[in-house]
Amino acid sequence: MKKIDLHMHSTASDGTFSPSAIVAMGAAAELAAVALTDHDTTDGIDEFMDAGKAHPEMLTIPGIEISTLFDGREVHIIGLFIDHHNPGLIEFIKRIQGQRHDRNLKLVEKLGQAGYSVSLDEVTAVSGGKIIGRPHFAQVIKEKYAFNTLQDVFENCLKRGTPGFHPRILPQPAEAINAIHAAGGVAAWAHPVYRNQNERSWVRRVLRKIAPEGLDAVEAYYSKFDAGQTRIMTELAKEFNLALSGGSDFHGENSPGVMPGIGFGGLEVPENLLPPLLEIAKKYILRSC
Ligand code: AMP
Ligand code: MN
Ligand code: MN
Ligand code: MN
Repeated sequence: MKKIDLHMHSTASDGTFSPSAIVAMGAAAELAAVALTDHDTTDGIDEFMDAGKAHPEMLTIPGIEISTLFDGREVHIIGLFIDHHNPGLIEFIKRIQGQRHDRNLKLVEKLGQAGYSVSLDEVTAVSGGKIIGRPHFAQVIKEKYAFNTLQDVFENCLKRGTPGFHPRILPQPAEAINAIHAAGGVAAWAHPVYRNQNERSWVRRVLRKIAPEGLDAVEAYYSKFDAGQTRIMTELAKEFNLALSGGSDFHGENSPGVMPGIGFGGLEVPENLLPPLLEIAKKYILRSC
């Protein structure tokens, strides 16, 4: 069976490859489908869909990844098959981007106080797009202050609990789910067991809240998942009557070692996840017309 990759980032957010380069890489890997899911932006989608026309054998899916907050932790919601011209979605994204900008100004201030002088101009120069995130700050700091890896920078001054950290004001999961549905998209919870302890009980607690709010799917296949995590997510999806999704979370140089379609080498998101996701998309497309 062919593979698919429904979670990828381009230069429109914090990836280092352009949307058309991602299409080319997906086609070279002989994937049956690729989705562009940049953080809080749809700016890359026109280029992505245009590039997809040269590869009719591969489905190109317009998507987005929206960071939300539940119970003090980030819950990332992916929208697949979204209409990126939907006015409600555009309005929602604008609000989130404003809050991201405010957070970035605080990062400049706090990093400066912590001894890492970084200007907004410097991070903008490496970002390639309008969405500026912590990985761009990490790139600048890595070069200026001679850190070995981006991960080292995160551990030192960017992750929660370090001096440079400042939280973003984030929407609730239901707001993201509703905005995605209004734009005709399918809402999937990304990397549900990412960097968490007591995974199954945490996931169940979140699902009890967001499945009734309209969540459609969960990522059961992810670069960093082992077979056990895929099994946990597959079982919980069944319990909560949700479809399955999956992808690499490809970011180019900003996620070292992760490749389109295969993640760290062992990722296999099967093509047969697509028909159920398309069935769900039909429901919302009809509703949003
Ligand atoms: P932001 O949305 O600007 O807060 O940045 C979040 C992004 O930073 C995530 O999507 C990851 O790509 C990256 N990231 C977050 N935490 C870490 C970490 N501990 N190590 C490496 N990358 C991280
Ligand atoms: Mn990212
Ligand atoms: Mn994420
Ligand atoms: Mn992602």
